[in-house]
Amino acid sequence: MDFILATNNMKKLAEMQRILSPLGINVVTAKMLGITLPEVVEDGDTFEANAKIKAESACKITGLPAIADDSGLCVDYLGGYPGIYSARFANIEIHGDECVDNEKNADDEDNNNLLLEKLQGVAENDRTAYYVCAISCIFPDGKEISVRGECHGIIGFERDGNAGFGYDPLFIINGKSFGKYEGEEKDKISHRGKALRSLAEELKKII
Ligand code: IMP
Repeated sequence: MDFILATNNMKKLAEMQRILSPLGINVVTAKMLGITLPEVVEDGDTFEANAKIKAESACKITGLPAIADDSGLCVDYLGGYPGIYSARFANIEIHGDECVDNEKNADDEDNNNLLLEKLQGVAENDRTAYYVCAISCIFPDGKEISVRGECHGIIGFERDGNAGFGYDPLFIINGKSFGKYEGEEKDKISHRGKALRSLAEELKKII
């Protein structure tokens, strides 16, 4: 059975194929089918809502069951921020409940610098944080499977390691930075690995 993955991120594709192919599920990207998916506005206020927006759009356009994920880092001391704004943390200004996007093209480096700045002087006990990955799978008949994986750790005082991406050099779990985990070692405990295994369990029940 073919499923479309609503991203062209090859790392995510490989991870999904690794976990879902034993179920007879073939995950493909739109690019592999020669289709260009339109940009969607991710204006949901939860990871789950944003994953669903992406999966619904891909399913509608291709007619295939579609899988999409949305992920980010929630820092307890910052009231859960950057959360759904993780990819563009250094772009946003928070005014009460409202977030304004300055569209400054923040990259991982800017986001990590801002995170360290916001946690300056904060003791280790108060630096708890967790990654979230929500995955939505939408079928052409409208049925949805929605799963979530979380991975809890703390934010370090400085970067450590070059593996992974995003906030990994600052995220410490079991005394070691995610920036120092090998890919498959990270999959075993990561938010994305957990969500994907939950998705596989749910799919097993219906296919
Ligand atoms: P997206 O779901 O691929 O759009 O990811 C959103 C953002 O969350 C990324 O740009 C990263 O900043 C952050 N993020 C999500 N998952 C991870 C991870 O496993 N490691 C590091 N950063 C992550």
